[in-house]
Amino acid sequence: MRRLGWGGLILVLCACATMSTQQEVQLGEQQSEDVNKQLPIIQDAEVNRYVNTLGDSIAKLSDNRNLEWHFFVVNSQDVNAFALPGGYIYVNRGLIEQADKMDELAGVLGHEIGHVIHRHSVKLIEKQQGASLGLAVGCILTNVCSDPTTGAAINVAGNAVFSKFSRQDEQQADESAVTYVTRAGIDPHGLPSMFQKLLQERQSNPSTVETWFATHPTEESRIADTEHLIDQIDPAILRGLTQDAPGFHDFQNRVKGLPRR
Ligand SMILES: [Zn+2]
Repeated sequence: MRRLGWGGLILVLCACATMSTQQEVQLGEQQSEDVNKQLPIIQDAEVNRYVNTLGDSIAKLSDNRNLEWHFFVVNSQDVNAFALPGGYIYVNRGLIEQADKMDELAGVLGHEIGHVIHRHSVKLIEKQQGASLGLAVGCILTNVCSDPTTGAAINVAGNAVFSKFSRQDEQQADESAVTYVTRAGIDPHGLPSMFQKLLQERQSNPSTVETWFATHPTEESRIADTEHLIDQIDPAILRGLTQDAPGFHDFQNRVKGLPRR
């Protein structure tokens, strides 16, 4: 097939009112291939094993389309995570390094999984066909677009559909994250706890969380809303959930020890 670039690909796939799961997976696969060429993906087997095992443990129990999930760690200090259609989730090492406990990473993974399960980016594409979704992803995740050598990408993607998810989408992803991680036996308090960290980081070191806030509108009210949801869970269930695990800290130490880019 002639290589059309992301925007072209989306047009091809989306000459339709709604995208089928098969089309969504193809789109995600194509975008993921392109993203993996642009972004510095960590290739460490142990790191990949851990993030995929944790991610799968959350995703598989809640995904009724039987998607094949793929989790990647990006060698970027920006505190961010991102989902492509069809089950491709990216988390930056900066977020992993900032987390204090396993449940904080799990909460964010649950949130990104929620964006995929609810097809938020697919719905955006369906609404605005042909916009240059994929190019924007690389920019959002790593600021790679401020690199003059890739400057062209910014211009193409400048007005991309992938500006940000709506507040409703964010809320739905948060609600889902609470359900998914709880179902996976993990304490959902990790999600509001991570949000709190992001807000604090925004005060002290705004540049490292800029990309998060550009793509996931996050305010104090989101923390309160998420905590309110958690309060409705039976305390006996909450008491049985896992907050942390030694394997997480082994994984985190391994990430911290990898060469920075
Ligand atoms: Zn989000």
